[in-house]
Amino acid sequence: MPNAPLVERDLKVLWHPCTQMHDHETIPLVPIRRARGVWLEDFEGRRYLDAISSWWVNIFGHGHPAIDEALRRQLGNLEHVLLAGFTHEPAIQLAESLVTLAPLGLTRCFFGDNGSSAVEIALKMSLHYWRNEGCPRKTAFVTLAHSYHGETVGALSVSDVALYKETYAPLLFSAHIAPSPDCSLREPEASCEDQIRQALSGMNEILEQHGDTICGVIIEPLVQCAGGMRMYDPSYLRGLRELCDRYGVHLIADEIAVGFGRTGTLFACEQGPIQPDFLLVGKGLTGGYLPLSACLVPENIYQAFFAEYESGKAFLHSHSYTGNPLACTAALATLDIFAKTDVIAKNRVLSAVIAEALAPLREHPHVASVRQTGMIAALNLVADKGRGQAYPALERRGLRVYRYGLDHEALLRPLGDVLYVMPPYVIEPDEIKQLVRTLAAGIDAATEA
Ligand SMILES: *Cc1c(COP(=O)(O)O)cnc(C)c1O
Repeated sequence: MPNAPLVERDLKVLWHPCTQMHDHETIPLVPIRRARGVWLEDFEGRRYLDAISSWWVNIFGHGHPAIDEALRRQLGNLEHVLLAGFTHEPAIQLAESLVTLAPLGLTRCFFGDNGSSAVEIALKMSLHYWRNEGCPRKTAFVTLAHSYHGETVGALSVSDVALYKETYAPLLFSAHIAPSPDCSLREPEASCEDQIRQALSGMNEILEQHGDTICGVIIEPLVQCAGGMRMYDPSYLRGLRELCDRYGVHLIADEIAVGFGRTGTLFACEQGPIQPDFLLVGKGLTGGYLPLSACLVPENIYQAFFAEYESGKAFLHSHSYTGNPLACTAALATLDIFAKTDVIAKNRVLSAVIAEALAPLREHPHVASVRQTGMIAALNLVADKGRGQAYPALERRGLRVYRYGLDHEALLRPLGDVLYVMPPYVIEPDEIKQLVRTLAAGIDAATEA
């Protein structure tokens, strides 16, 4: 069967996420028939290497035999039950595993059903914690410039990507925005250390002035992903932890994109090392099979809510699919892969292959800021490398690379003119080399005249 009939049906009824639907008048929509490992296959037998792990969720490839099998087994027993007043083994076991794997001191697990909901949970829980502790004046949050924490109204309020945020400004609450530690934002002549010092000093200023009304600081540890794959040194995490302690505010680590081995450690916070007050996980948690997220907190936060019912201290938050047994089962099977293979060591080898393959692109006249943290590598398309000048956004050069990729067996979905690879961990060295060749050829095609 060809692709066209499905595309036609789709475009009559579907409205796709993060898409100007008009683009599909000219850009092909790709119906996928099946997927195995890093490869997606369409109805005409064309294949696409999933270089972005299907929006960063699919960490062990598609159709993983162990996750498939675990889900088949769970299906015969329990597909769903509410998690209030009832419980089930997959949720218990997953919570046990997560608190064991997470940075020390995080002892309680509250489930959500996607990343944005985990962010909403953390914001509400942090504010409610301070309220229960007798600090009702603490109602504000600090976020970093260029941060991204999801699309729901609360999560968007603590994000800083204008493209997603600006239109909805009237709906959002305001958050303090501290400077990003991203090295590429440094002044000419300044070093990455200078940028981190600057970022911490900016944070210090906000906390010094407003600490008594601030609940917490939310960050994406080591890589600000959707805001342009902006990377920074772990020393920032240590500095931030000190500031949060000094001014008595929560440190909320949103590891929804960077958790589960993506940055070279199981959790990015381990590279501080720091112990966050909130650890948020999602995306790769289920190996890309089903939506699930979790918010992990230390015992003192849990205890602040634990009281007689009349106290009104309970955290009355829920999502219909909270702790869904199938999603928890997929997550357990995913964690089992970490338990049975040294994923971190294998990723170190793959990361080196990525680095080596990308190195020649540093010399490309339209490529700047080639950078990498573990299994994330990114670069910027630029009009004028010497002056660091970007292309006009409306030329949509990154989109040309995307289209080139589709014609050459690769799913590369740039963030504007930021091109990146964030592949499933089951990618082979030869596939990495082929992928980077495609990326390089796509850059040539997208930057000629
Ligand atoms: C994707 C993402 C989210 C939102 O997760 P969804 O599952 O898309 O709602 C939140 N924070 C970060 C850092 C993300 O990358």
